[in-house]
Amino acid sequence: MTADVIVGRAEVIAACAAAIAELLSDGGVMIALTGAGVSKESGVPTYRGLDGVWSKVPEDIATPETLHREPELFWEFHDALRRVVATAQPNAAHLALAEIEAGLEAEFAIITQNIDGLHQAAGSRKVIELHGNATRNYCTECYREYPDLPSPLPSLPPRCECGGLIRPDVVLFHEGLPVEALTEADRLASAAAVVLVIGTSACVYPAAQIPLITWQNGGLLVEVNPEATGLSELAAYRLRGPAGRSLPALWTALQPLLR
Ligand code: NAD
Repeated sequence: MTADVIVGRAEVIAACAAAIAELLSDGGVMIALTGAGVSKESGVPTYRGLDGVWSKVPEDIATPETLHREPELFWEFHDALRRVVATAQPNAAHLALAEIEAGLEAEFAIITQNIDGLHQAAGSRKVIELHGNATRNYCTECYREYPDLPSPLPSLPPRCECGGLIRPDVVLFHEGLPVEALTEADRLASAAAVVLVIGTSACVYPAAQIPLITWQNGGLLVEVNPEATGLSELAAYRLRGPAGRSLPALWTALQPLLR
């Protein structure tokens, strides 16, 4: 069975909540894979889509090659994202996910591709960051950590006391993911009875593989995204609308069904 819901079709939200509640009542684990779309309502731009960052700058700016060959250009791009993230606040979607974690007896974890720290700011405790965090930085020569670089940076690129180039602790294109985070994400995806796929175009691997693991094991896949993605066909429920509306509605419907 599959169902699309434009936010407001309460009966489909109710059916989705009932399906989730049944799986969780049997001791099932629930996970959420989140992407840039979950932070869009906080004013952080997505990468893909009409207003996405990649419609304005080429994707290869976020690569180690650009970082080392053209560090000023790399940091100009990255510092712009840092400036937005520095003032962004969690939105209703981040808050609903934190409430879900606090309100469920079942194990719940967020696996995020985002580097903005907004899930933690909303109060979520179990957050696995697959692509690092833009608030952390370190020297590429001596590995000294720089957690508190000013925003905006006074000069570009930032340099370590040793003279080395500082880089953000984020995963760039062509780089591998942190092994510990990926291992834990794989474990959770294998154990999960439900996966919510929220605000991701599901184009970036291996993150996009996570919901497939749960689905292949017979788990329920729920997509929360205004647009269709490559995963939409696998979703039992597709909540078509902004996450800041869909997730609070889903949580409101789910709460009374939990035992
Ligand atoms: P993406 O930009 O490729 O796709 C964003 C998705 O969000 C799209 O499918 C879009 O339809 C959907 N979306 C837009 N508005 C939405 C809303 N209000 N509610 C729900 N969904 C909405 O993002 P991605 O798949 O996460 O991949 C981009 C990569 O870039 C990630 O690896 C991430 O590390 C990085 N990134 C992070 C941030 C951040 O930390 N906030 C921002 C931009 C990019």
